[in-house]
Amino acid sequence: MDDLKQAIRARGGRVTPQRVLLLEALRRLGRHSTAEEVRAAAGDRLPQLSLPTVYATLDLFIELGLARRVNAGGGAIRYDPRVEQHDHFACRNCGNVVDLEPAIDDTPARAAARVAGHRPEGSEILVVGLCRDCARSA
Ligand SMILES: [Zn+2]
Ligand SMILES: [Zn+2]
Repeated sequence: MDDLKQAIRARGGRVTPQRVLLLEALRRLGRHSTAEEVRAAAGDRLPQLSLPTVYATLDLFIELGLARRVNAGGGAIRYDPRVEQHDHFACRNCGNVVDLEPAIDDTPARAAARVAGHRPEGSEILVVGLCRDCARSA
């Protein structure tokens, strides 16, 4: 818990028991969780927690650089405790979102953006389709 408090404080956030528990829940889930899943994971210790509060806190974590938002197309927004640059695969059948390894070389995408006059700062590649499990049973 102490490293969680430190992580929040180091980035200029105010430490509250609620924030610490939600960050702990997000990291414990360790995957691309929805706000509902994070609330459920923290729920036994924070039974009064409303969903808007969970969203607001998760958005604060993004601002503080403690989480990333993954737009997996379609469904709910997912929150990712892994903050360094990485790309995702989203299953259109079961909604599962997983990291893609190794990292994808985004040089051509950045070059295309530059040619169009944009100033690229980052990229997020989302590959969609059927995940391994769904493809097997399809
Ligand atoms: Zn699937
Ligand atoms: Zn991820």
